[in-house]
Amino acid sequence: MDDGKDWRTRLNLEFVDQFPHGAFHFAVGNGWSLLLAEVFRRVDAALHDEERSFFGWNDVKEKWGLLRMTHNGSDCIDDIVDWAEATSERVCDLCGLGGRLRKDGAWRVRCDACASI
Ligand SMILES: [Zn+2]
Repeated sequence: MDDGKDWRTRLNLEFVDQFPHGAFHFAVGNGWSLLLAEVFRRVDAALHDEERSFFGWNDVKEKWGLLRMTHNGSDCIDDIVDWAEATSERVCDLCGLGGRLRKDGAWRVRCDACASI
């Protein structure tokens, strides 16, 4: 899909309910865009009406090479976040292919091709 909008803009528009304080800047590499999209889809499916009325993300960022997501939701949402943060350890944050956590210099999850970038 190429509608001229980048993935950050698209996710903000598609899951606007999850960003009650306005458009969110996801402080992660482009390689994790599909992972984030899957998180927001799962959260959308998991939210019941009451929780949906107040739910919001506090932070979506990379820390020590891995995805970190904080929110004001329930344990059910925590389970989705746990899955996403664990998955980020195997997804190159530049290109989205399979990678591993590299601890030389700045910690990053990278595939072999992106490792030296
Ligand atoms: Zn890569």
